[in-house]
Formats: sequence, structure tokens, C-alpha cells
Amino acid sequence: MMTVRKPNKNNRPEGFGDAEDLNRVAARYAVRVTPAVYEAMQAAAADDPVARQYLPDTRELEDGAGETPDPIGDGAHSPVSGIVHRYPDRVLLMPALHCAVYCRYCFRREKVGRDEAVLPDEKLAAALDYIRGDENIKEVILSGGDPLILSPRRLAGIFTALEEIAHVEIIRIHSRVPVADPQRITKQLCAVLEGSAKPVYLAVHVNHAQELTRDAEKSLKKLHAAGCVLLSQSVLLKGVNDDADTLETLFRALVRLRVKPYYLHHPDRAAGTAHFRVTLAEGREIMRILQSRLSGICRPVYMLDIPGGYGKVAVDPCRLHSAGKNAYHIEDIHGNTHFYAQE
Ligand code: SF4
Repeated sequence: MMTVRKPNKNNRPEGFGDAEDLNRVAARYAVRVTPAVYEAMQAAAADDPVARQYLPDTRELEDGAGETPDPIGDGAHSPVSGIVHRYPDRVLLMPALHCAVYCRYCFRREKVGRDEAVLPDEKLAAALDYIRGDENIKEVILSGGDPLILSPRRLAGIFTALEEIAHVEIIRIHSRVPVADPQRITKQLCAVLEGSAKPVYLAVHVNHAQELTRDAEKSLKKLHAAGCVLLSQSVLLKGVNDDADTLETLFRALVRLRVKPYYLHHPDRAAGTAHFRVTLAEGREIMRILQSRLSGICRPVYMLDIPGGYGKVAVDPCRLHSAGKNAYHIEDIHGNTHFYAQE
């Protein structure tokens, strides 16, 4: 049986640095852990894959090479407050910049958990006007912060406004809440989601199977019952999930819970997160192994957000190599190469 090493009043989390430096981390970046996350930890120690995601670490005080406050260039694509419009057919709408928990590798860590945490009514109205004014926008992605931190009443108001915009076809929600704070998935919230006149896709943010506690599973079942199409997004994180076995376990568990693994993100260059970063070559090798083991239903797409605001691209390993005009060498899942020529 595993030894549980959780802190009590006589000890502190292990391996994250000394108390004085940790206070400096907390002064710079928001810190919050829910009882659900605490329960998901097997040890409040840096070698625990859940603790490592949420407990502050003094290495966050070190700004690494290439790290910036806005690693994916949101600012360059924000025409009005609360909107990021990077791709023609979809926008991010960010009604809240606070979260149930604060992930130590967050790419918006310079913005979340600050004073103006909820978009004021007049700015929300201007953001909705922006969406109303562009008929190319087919999909609105509620992001943040975490949109499921909002009250069901406030969320219902946003849904109503989006439902009245004819060219918006899909509402998507990105949230950590179903796993990190499952008690927030209430009947009232599910009623809002179920009552939506437009399809609701919900991308659950989860990085390790250990986070899928009994309560998290129940929350996902409720969301499925409320008619949400469930997807997952994960971040590839050193010391958390940077091996094929760990990710295989996570993705298989998600599929059993009716959640389609959607994206595996290469970690962004957010300030103070170098200790989480794997190389692109390491990530591609993990995906190469997973391609051999998992069906397409279980396998997410490995994505890189190009620094500077140039958008996301798939960086899955390529098994196709040119062998002349209209001819290719194609590698099978066992690593054997086959010649394929276009007739
Ligand atoms: S829930 Fe999302 S926005 Fe909030 S801290 Fe975690 S990664 Fe960042």
C-alpha cells in the first residue's frame, strides 16, 4: 500500500523550496488548491504528479530563456477586453480571470487571480457586441480564467446572449472545474448547460489519471447527462505526465468516462515554468509510442502554440517521408518502412 505523505500542522510540503521563497512565489502568482485537489494528491511532495501541478515551487521565481508574460500572444489578438480573436471562425470569450485552482504552469499566470477577476458588465456587453458584429464567428469558446467559476445565473445570461446571435453555432467551454472542484457541477449549472439551444462542447483540463477521483468522475457523468459533448485537453509536463505509460492510462480512463482526448499541449513558455518543460523531440517520441498503442478515439493531437501569437499547429510525429515525386516511405507502428507511390 502506498504511503501517504500529506502535510499537517507539524510539517510542510516536501521538495518545493523554503518557506520564505515560497511566500515570494505566492506574492507574484496566485495560489489556490481545493479540497478535491488535495484529496487527489497521494503526497504533498514534488514527486507527486498532482501536488506538482498545484503547489508553488521556488523555481517559479526563475525566468527562463524565451519566457514571456504573454507566451501565446493573446494581447496581439484582443480587439476588445475579454475577447481573443486569433482564427476567423472562432473567438475566446473570457468572462472571468479567476480559477478554482491555480496551475503552476499556467500560460495566463500573469493575468489570472488578479484584482479585476470578473469582466465588468459593460465590458462583457462590448465583448458580446464584438461577436454579434462578425458573422464569420461560428464558435465561441468560454475560457479565462475558468468560466465554470461563474454562478449559474451569470453563465445563463451569457448563454442567452450567445443563443440570440444567429451566426454562433457552437458554445465551447474550457474548464478545470470538473476535476479540480467537482462540487461546482451542481444541478443549477447542469440545467443551464442542458437548456442551451446550441450544442455545448466542454473541454475538461486534466493531466494525470490520479486527478480523476470518484467525485470528478461523478461530475463528468453529470455533464454528459446534461448533453455536453466532452473533450479533454492536457498539457505535457515534466515530472507529471511526460511518459507514454502515464498518458496511456490517462487517455484510456477518459475514454471510459465518455471524454474524447482532444489536445495534448506542448507547454508554453510562461514565466517561471522551465522546470515543467519537455523538448519537442521528447514530446514527439512519446506521441510516436502512443500512436502504436492507442486507437484514434483514445489519442489526442499533440499541439504547439507558436510563441508570439501565430496560433496552434499539430506537431504529431510524421510517419511519411518523401521518396521522390508522388512517392513516400511510410513507417508502420512497428517501425518498419514501406514504399507507397501514387498511381
Ligand atoms: S485553470 Fe486554466 S487559467 Fe486557471 S490557472 Fe489553471 S491553466 Fe491557468
